[in-house]
This record gives sequence, structure tokens and C-alpha cells, in this order.
Amino acid sequence: MFDSRKIVVATMHHKEQVLLPLFEKEWNMLGICTTDLNTDLFGTFTGEIERQHNPIETARQKCLKAMDLTNVDLAIASEGSFGPHPTLFFVPADEEWLVLIDQKNGFEWIHRELSTETNYNSKIISEESELLDFAKQSLFPSHALILKGESSNMTFKGICDSKELIDKFKLILQKEGRVQVETDMRAMYNPTRMNVIQMAGQKLIQKLKSYCPSCTHPGFGVSRAVAGLPCEICGFPTASTLKYIESCSRCSFENEIPQPHGKSFESAMYCDLCNP
Ligand SMILES: [Zn+2]
Ligand SMILES: [Zn+2]
Repeated sequence: MFDSRKIVVATMHHKEQVLLPLFEKEWNMLGICTTDLNTDLFGTFTGEIERQHNPIETARQKCLKAMDLTNVDLAIASEGSFGPHPTLFFVPADEEWLVLIDQKNGFEWIHRELSTETNYNSKIISEESELLDFAKQSLFPSHALILKGESSNMTFKGICDSKELIDKFKLILQKEGRVQVETDMRAMYNPTRMNVIQMAGQKLIQKLKSYCPSCTHPGFGVSRAVAGLPCEICGFPTASTLKYIESCSRCSFENEIPQPHGKSFESAMYCDLCNP
């Protein structure tokens, strides 16, 4: 289904660097980049343009636009969201959605990667020492930073030079008295995020290489997790994963994987009844 086809990556943040080699190696595909696709129109992390759709739909729209611009009938895009991890408290997480659309055959595959490997952070500061601490914690200068004023429209993105960082900090501080510093989450400015996208690409390919036991359609894999692992003391269902469901995107065949983490009971620490 994929051998030697052309594939376009819908990105202007150089995600092709990590995604294309995977597909070129696996199926001898020819990777194409788009030079005139402005993915910022679908939303930016810094809020100048709000994302209008959920991440899956946003990635889908990027794929469609890239296929339109290049006349290629196979496209991949990723869309990331950053924030607190949904189940681990106070741990920041990077959630990446990869969408692959095959227009020739009329199929779509989606992979979600949730990783705690991220430097995602932001802070309002007024001291240079706070800036330097934040920079160190955020893996600067290999990872870029963003400086913003709160009231004015002063925003400096993609800073990866110490002198520029301090100059821009002083400039905003002088005007506003406080500065918002943020990690730049755009892929080419954030090697940690780039690694997560690469990992997501590898897992998507693994999924594409497994076939539905019922209809042999590629891309058979875990599509959702079902919560409800019982508490070890009272047996009440907890929020922890009870089972994974593998499903086919073409036919309705499903397969259950019970106790995916090898546990039949959850610690009472996570039980809403025993430890409210
Ligand atoms: Zn309990
Ligand atoms: Zn099937």
C-alpha cells in the first residue's frame, strides 16, 4: 500500500527532518516538503492565532492543505499540545497527535503520543537571576525561549543566544516592569519535542505494519484505554487502566488487552473511596 509512494509532511517547523527518514527507510518512499504552507494559520502556541479545531482536526486540515499544494496523495502532520499530564499531578506533558492521510485509498490513521519528556514551562519574572535560572532549567540555549510583555505587543520568539536573551529581557522590563518568559515549543527550536515527534512517527509505523486479523487492513493497534482497574482493598474501580482496546480503522474488529501494565489491582493510594 505504501511502497515507493510520495509522502508530503505538512510542516514549516522542520518536522520532516525526523519524520521523512522513517518512511523513506521503511517503504522506500520519496519525501516531499512544502515551502508555501503556512501552518501558523491553523493556530500558534504563542496565541497570536487561536487554534480553531481540536488537535486531530488541525493536523487533518494541515495534511489536506499540503496535499492540495503539492499534488501528492499521501500526507502526514503532527499537532502538539502542552500542559499538565492528565493523570500525573504537577508533571508537564507533551501530547502529540500524528495524522496520516492516504487520499488515493481513502484511509486515515492517527497516533497519539503522550510524553513527560518536555521542558514546557512559563513564568512571570522581574529579576535577571530568575531569567538565568529559568533558562538553565529549560535547556537553553539548545532549546529556544520566548520573551513577552504583558500589556504591549512586544513578543520575541526563537531566542537562542544569551546576549539577545538579556537584551530583550531588559528592553521589556524597562517598559513594563515584568516579563513573561516561556519555552519555545516550535519543533525546530525544541530538540526534546522533536524527539517526541520522532518517537510518535516510529510508533505509527509499527502500527501500520500490523494488520487487522479480520480484514488485513494495515494499522491495527491500540486505539483507546479503558479505566477501572479495581482497588486492592475495596475493589472499587479506579482511574487506572483496566484494559487497552485494539481496533481496526476499516472494519469493526476489536481485540482487548487486559491488564496492560501487568497489574490486576491498583494500590489503594489511588482509590477515591479508600483515599479520597
Ligand atoms: Zn479502595
Ligand atoms: Zn479490519
